[in-house]
Amino acid sequence: MTPSEILKHFELDKVSKSDGDLKVSSPIDGQEIATLSQTSLQDIDKQIACAHDAFKIWRATPAPVRGELIRLFGEELRQNKDELGRLVTLENGKVLSEGLGEVQEMIDICDFAVGLSRQLYGLTIASERPGHAMREVWQPLGVVGVISAFNFPVAVWAWNAALAYVCGNAIIWKPSEKTPLTALACQNLFEKAVANYRKAGHDAPDHLLHVIVGGREHGAAMVNNHKVALVSATGSGNMGRAVAQDLSTRLGKSLLELGGNNAMIVTTSADLDMALRAILFSAVGTAGQRCTTLRRLIVHEAVVDDLLPKLVKAYQSLPIGNPLDKETLVGPLIDADALSMMLEAVANAKAQGGEVLCGGKEASGDVPEGGAYPEPAIIRMPEQSDIVQHETFAPILYVMTYKTLDEAIAINNDVPQGLSSCIFTTDIREAETFLSSVGSDCGIANVNIGPSGAEIGGAFGGEKETGGGRESGSDAWKTYMRRQTQTINYSTALPLAQGVKFDV
Ligand code: NAD
Repeated sequence: MTPSEILKHFELDKVSKSDGDLKVSSPIDGQEIATLSQTSLQDIDKQIACAHDAFKIWRATPAPVRGELIRLFGEELRQNKDELGRLVTLENGKVLSEGLGEVQEMIDICDFAVGLSRQLYGLTIASERPGHAMREVWQPLGVVGVISAFNFPVAVWAWNAALAYVCGNAIIWKPSEKTPLTALACQNLFEKAVANYRKAGHDAPDHLLHVIVGGREHGAAMVNNHKVALVSATGSGNMGRAVAQDLSTRLGKSLLELGGNNAMIVTTSADLDMALRAILFSAVGTAGQRCTTLRRLIVHEAVVDDLLPKLVKAYQSLPIGNPLDKETLVGPLIDADALSMMLEAVANAKAQGGEVLCGGKEASGDVPEGGAYPEPAIIRMPEQSDIVQHETFAPILYVMTYKTLDEAIAINNDVPQGLSSCIFTTDIREAETFLSSVGSDCGIANVNIGPSGAEIGGAFGGEKETGGGRESGSDAWKTYMRRQTQTINYSTALPLAQGVKFDV
């Protein structure tokens, strides 16, 4: 499919206008693929008001019936998986199998949410008063504002949306200004699902989803609107700090999914072949632009000389090029700025005593002109210096060595971020120590699996400067609901709690 055929498929040719003020280009070759008009700031408030009206209707629909809409949305995604996956690759630059994987993740979370729509369980609680019942009930929350990053342009929204809808909310989505087309394509599919839902005899209000086209100012306008009950924001630490500050002035609720600085510990007992394969996908996949990308390799000094030459050799044979080509494993970075930041980080690492073992420059050779293609870097560092503590959103792997497991765990934890981590070991003592209360301090801790590539069934998110939010599986749905404790007196007396007497 050509780019214009993909746009047409989602009716995006109709929204691209020559007088628009937001140019969207493909990272593959820098070519412009569409020009959009940004949403006006006044329209954002109107859209939020409409979404709030929609919420007031949607919250009264029984949750399992709300689940039917998400089932139908999942069907649209299944039918359009190939086209949406290609659009993700075109607009974001990730290799096609990862673009398709992202859509599969959307389908998976829809399936999860459909089941969840019948399992929004509360609690019954023993009351201390006779003739009284107590329970805890989860109620719909309101308008959920979703701010998403460029690197997972559709899956992260779906993690939020599938749960938020079955929980009875409406959504305002502010996607990255670098990837608005994929968001508009999702809106197109969502509207088809709403139409099918109505055809099947169900009522769904208009305005359950609005997509805001624009940048940080647009995101801030949404954050500052008091009708938005929850802001779920995914992006850099700087963005998270700004959103948290804005929300704190109106005491709004947030779910923050921010940067990671993820590590792998490789011990003396590790299966080095498995570790090698895991390192390659985790450090180089998505051209190092995943929040869970492996950035720090902490290797026991007894195995580092065995592992590193093999790793360097594997890096040197990585196919770098057009992400639409089947054999490509490393596509472009999102834009030229991202490549400049990578080169700057490599220079800083060298200045801090790092030795570049391979890569770390712009890729030459058979890559499309106009894109920012990196050569993934491996840099051996004498210690965890400033540059290693910082998340550079590019394929740079810093390697450090350790002597004892305690030291390795300390290195793993000694960064401001706390998203994902892992250990490669065949020693149960090492594995369980890493997973224990004195082990990894991250939201995600894996054994013999890289830090990247989570399944939707588990709660996803991280600690410290990663923001503390949890999305996707487990009980992450509770963030999208309002908890209410209800006490019912079915007796004829009016006893007070704690035995307090207040009789006249
Ligand atoms: P970014 O922070 O530049 O932008 C993310 C989104 O925030 C965009 O939609 C942007 O317009 C918006 N935004 C920026 N400043 C804002 C403000 N002051 N108020 C409101 N909205 C604002 O991030 P990016 O470059 O698109 O994405 C990469 C970053 O996202 C990395 O740090 C990565 O680790 C992180 N990320 C985290 C997760 C996670 O789940 N923890 C997932 C994906 C990406």
